[in-house]
Amino acid sequence: MQQSVFDHMQQMGHEQLVFCHDPHSGLNAIIAIHNTTLGPALGGTRLWNYNTHEEGIIDALRLSRGMTYKAAISGLNLGGGKAVIIGDASKIKSEALWRRYGKFVNSLNGKYITAEDVNTSAPDMEYIAMETSHVTGVPEYMGGSGDPSPFTALGVYMGMKAAAKKAWGNDGLAGKKVLVQGVGHVGQYLVGHLVAEGAKVMVTDINKDKIKQTKDKFHNVEVVDGDTLFDLEMDIYAPCALGATVNTESIAKMKCPVIAGAANNQLADENVHGPMLIEKGIIYVPDFLINAGGLINVAAELEEYNRERVTGNVEKIYGRTLEILELSDREKIHAQAAAMKIAQKRLNDIANVNARL
Ligand code: NAD
Repeated sequence: MQQSVFDHMQQMGHEQLVFCHDPHSGLNAIIAIHNTTLGPALGGTRLWNYNTHEEGIIDALRLSRGMTYKAAISGLNLGGGKAVIIGDASKIKSEALWRRYGKFVNSLNGKYITAEDVNTSAPDMEYIAMETSHVTGVPEYMGGSGDPSPFTALGVYMGMKAAAKKAWGNDGLAGKKVLVQGVGHVGQYLVGHLVAEGAKVMVTDINKDKIKQTKDKFHNVEVVDGDTLFDLEMDIYAPCALGATVNTESIAKMKCPVIAGAANNQLADENVHGPMLIEKGIIYVPDFLINAGGLINVAAELEEYNRERVTGNVEKIYGRTLEILELSDREKIHAQAAAMKIAQKRLNDIANVNARL
């Protein structure tokens, strides 16, 4: 890392970074709290085998910042936080690791509330919940709402339809060629919505089991090679795996008029690739806007949970997407910048409210 951790925190506006280590269970975790203007920092815990600890720190910093803007644009009274646990998901998961991690979360007294993310699931949250109440996404039988992925997928589907309306004048996806990259938790639910509407769905995943699961559920989907996916003709590219897939190299090849997917941090560099997408005439639905369904769902666990109300709130992503795409057009700024502008305005407004009696 060329810059110090504090340089990164200052540039991105972070409040706090917590390092958690437990040699007994093999836990190495980083909890990043970006901004608590709107409320406690809520964000999932990602388990990933980073090549270096520095990579884990940068990921925690970027992801937690995204959560601040995601909550802000979704009208939630929550701040932005995220945690990463460094390790191989197939080897390090244990009751001891989750419970020790739960104690670290608890030591923050509710300033950070955790949830699921890549490689973590409801049963893991169950162990965390043995040590802290500051956890969401716990199984239904424990009073939680279970897996948030169906709501994330619903929100992505809504945002995708809004982008289709902007691109083609109507939001119907029947007959549209949609490529879903990553058919994990969210990707598979998204494929379900798309198949139900009659879209021509192509899928790719580095995990053969996930491809098989998807093919078993939805016989008509076409499996494509991930290495050459940007050579394919498609109407919509839906990144649902990891971030930074929208970069200089991929944009040069892209033939799709719309990008709308669940992954966090889709643009490798928003200041470079946001404008590049406008130049190429590609409609991009900002990631933190379109993938907020899961957050909207877990946030509801903090109040009296009501599935119908959550569904209605997630469906509002449709209108919000149209609004942001219109603002992007009107002010000639890229869509990510337009969404950031609206989110930042809400943060400033509420900071002003909080500063007064
Ligand atoms: P997941 O781990 O269940 O699924 C991700 C899938 O992507 C896996 O099947 C994996 O094998 C595949 N994958 C990884 N690298 C790939 C590559 N290079 N090419 C093709 N496939 C690849 O995760 P998820 O919960 O479905 O989340 C997907 C994305 O959406 C992540 O970026 C996550 O941060 C984001 N997201 C998820 C939620 C949620 O509710 N789960 C909410 C908001 C954002």
